[in-house]
Amino acid sequence: MGQVKFLKCRECGGEYPPTAIHVCPECFGPLDVTYDYATIKLDRETLQSRSKSLWRYWELLPVQDWSKVVDIGGGFTILQKSVRLGKILGLKNLYFKNDSVNPTFSFKDRPASVAVSKALEFGFKAVGCASTGNLAAAVAAHAARADLPCYVFIPSTVEPNKVIQAEAYGAKIVKVDGTYDNANRLATQAAEKNNWAFVNINIRPYYVEGSKTLAFEVVEQLDWEVPDHAIVPLGSGALINAIRKGFGELEKIGLTSNGNVKLTGVQAEGCAPIVHAFKSHSDRVVPVEHPKTVAESLAIGEPGDGEYAVRTIRQSGGFAESATDAEILEAIRLLAETEGIFTEPAGGVTVAALKKLVENGFISPDEKVVCYITGNGLKTVQTFTAYKRSTSEKLELKAAEVA
Ligand SMILES: *Cc1c(COP(=O)(O)O)cnc(C)c1O
Ligand SMILES: [Zn+2]
Repeated sequence: MGQVKFLKCRECGGEYPPTAIHVCPECFGPLDVTYDYATIKLDRETLQSRSKSLWRYWELLPVQDWSKVVDIGGGFTILQKSVRLGKILGLKNLYFKNDSVNPTFSFKDRPASVAVSKALEFGFKAVGCASTGNLAAAVAAHAARADLPCYVFIPSTVEPNKVIQAEAYGAKIVKVDGTYDNANRLATQAAEKNNWAFVNINIRPYYVEGSKTLAFEVVEQLDWEVPDHAIVPLGSGALINAIRKGFGELEKIGLTSNGNVKLTGVQAEGCAPIVHAFKSHSDRVVPVEHPKTVAESLAIGEPGDGEYAVRTIRQSGGFAESATDAEILEAIRLLAETEGIFTEPAGGVTVAALKKLVENGFISPDEKVVCYITGNGLKTVQTFTAYKRSTSEKLELKAAEVA
């Protein structure tokens, strides 16, 4: 099973046994799971023979006991080569990693599957999370499968479909009047008080490991070629850091010869603390007190991994870009009507930012670009309906007009 060596502090480099801790006991820095890379023997043929879920990469996942794995089929989503949108934008090698078609319809099934499995392995009696919407459903679904009670803390502004979805899986919902950051603080207290595993709080080092499979799959699906450039939406910043770790680990175990991918991070203009830090050449991420955007799933004013995300973007040679609500909604429509992929606003941010970056000359026509589409449009139909009504183009016809 997973060949975890230790947890390593990102700040002081301290090494700790892989227990249920999430910050460095010495300096409070975040901890990353480190594997015994030299002993991991994994070849392309072996991988190809395995099940089409994120668990096919188990040597690089942090669960030791296979019987604890909670797998509802997350991962191994399609990497779609763009035909129409690439042509419109003038990109010859554009791909969409369509993670909107996971079991609970966002990429959060990846970290949730790993974290709930790890919570079972540690013997926790309940799980939970603080969520901007999608994580709630992902944790609730995996908790249902694992027969664990689930508690989710969400801001009351989260789209109704996402709340209904989490409730359907049997989760207990704590709605917080305030921002995600308020919900996160309350969830932290609940986790401590009750000794519950809050996947993105007290077992966070394990949780983020699930997301790096988004890098593994892309490389495998590109026939073991590493893309030149990846566009990643940013909430807490955990996803982009995990993707960078994933590309790096494939190089470490010798499956690719180069783990360097330009990583570009994107946010909505109404909540873009990481983009602002990057653009102002600062290392400091200034919190946004009142996020205001249609991209609720990215509305984290005080991103926990924000400063690391800035560093990741800079070191990789990537860029940061934001998009307005109008641009986001227009991009949702553009992706749907050219590629057949209906995404939620987070995916709209990705496509809108891609368009701007191409127009401003930051991406060249021959680059192999992967856009991560992280959530499904059916989760946010209310948001999109409001936009559709404001366009002049008529989409509803009377039968008599065409029949
Ligand atoms: C959570 C989320 C993100 C951002 O992930 P972080 O790890 O918080 O940066 C992006 N897209 C969607 C759809 C999400 O739900
Ligand atoms: Zn430390």
